[in-house]
Amino acid sequence: MQVQWYPGHMTKAKRMMQDDIKLIDLVIELLDARIPYSSQNPDIDELAKGKSRLVLLNKSDLADPARNEQWLKHYRDMGRVALLLDSKNRKGFAPISKSIEEACREKIERDRKRGIVNRPVRAMVVGIPNVGKSTFINSLTKKASTKTGNRPGVTKGKQWIKLDKNVELLDTPGILWPKFENEAIGINIAFIGSINDEILDETDLAINLIDRLKKDYPGVIYNRYEASEEDPAAAIIGSVAKKRGCLKKGGEIDHSKAANAILDDFRSGKLGKITLELP
Ligand code: GDP
Repeated sequence: MQVQWYPGHMTKAKRMMQDDIKLIDLVIELLDARIPYSSQNPDIDELAKGKSRLVLLNKSDLADPARNEQWLKHYRDMGRVALLLDSKNRKGFAPISKSIEEACREKIERDRKRGIVNRPVRAMVVGIPNVGKSTFINSLTKKASTKTGNRPGVTKGKQWIKLDKNVELLDTPGILWPKFENEAIGINIAFIGSINDEILDETDLAINLIDRLKKDYPGVIYNRYEASEEDPAAAIIGSVAKKRGCLKKGGEIDHSKAANAILDDFRSGKLGKITLELP
């Protein structure tokens, strides 16, 4: 199963990202808690060199609670400041400003030694499409909506949102390109819906998902669809189609409609709290 991205998209995103990152001190990196590894951009370490970093495992409400803790520990063991977040329901926001301070401690200390005090930290949210960047920015800035406007020396049109007296956030997130180092990563990104479904065959994708769930989360498919997990994935899609009356004109079974329903169930959490990767 081949998963591809539009190269035109990537070139433009990369250029914008490289311009914006020059303006900031702190990179707030949003990952999808269901696939933290696959949703991380491959070039972020290079792009964010010399910057403070904060990792937010977003959509943690849809992810496996036990695995959330494992991933948090993984990032913290790496020396990163990391938090679990549910941007949609505004959960997990309380510790953010403390975490920003923690992530920027070295920078603030460096400034202080040079006699620079009270210079606000400038931050930017980055992540691959669909991880929740806009939702996060909206939730974070609901109260703090004072825009500082253009500033001298700052690219025209950039808006800074003052979060508090110490932090200013660029109002537009940096869109990162997903990595396609191997097929498994591309498929993981497709599972969570970060790739246009039009460029994929949804039945193939649902077959892949069912096979993964049967292995990693036995019982999940049976509980939702009452389909035997002994059956091959394609047969399970067929049985879901029959039960839900997914039919084409003429009464033929519509496998792709059933496949889409299964993918939607996974993406919206109806199959349960599921994480597809371990650290
Ligand atoms: P962006 O492309 O990174 O800016 O992503 P969006 O902010 O547009 O979010 C993509 C989708 O994910 C939207 O449908 C959001 O409502 C949803 N979403 C964002 N954050 C969360 C979250 O923490 N939990 C859940 N369940 N959904 C979220």
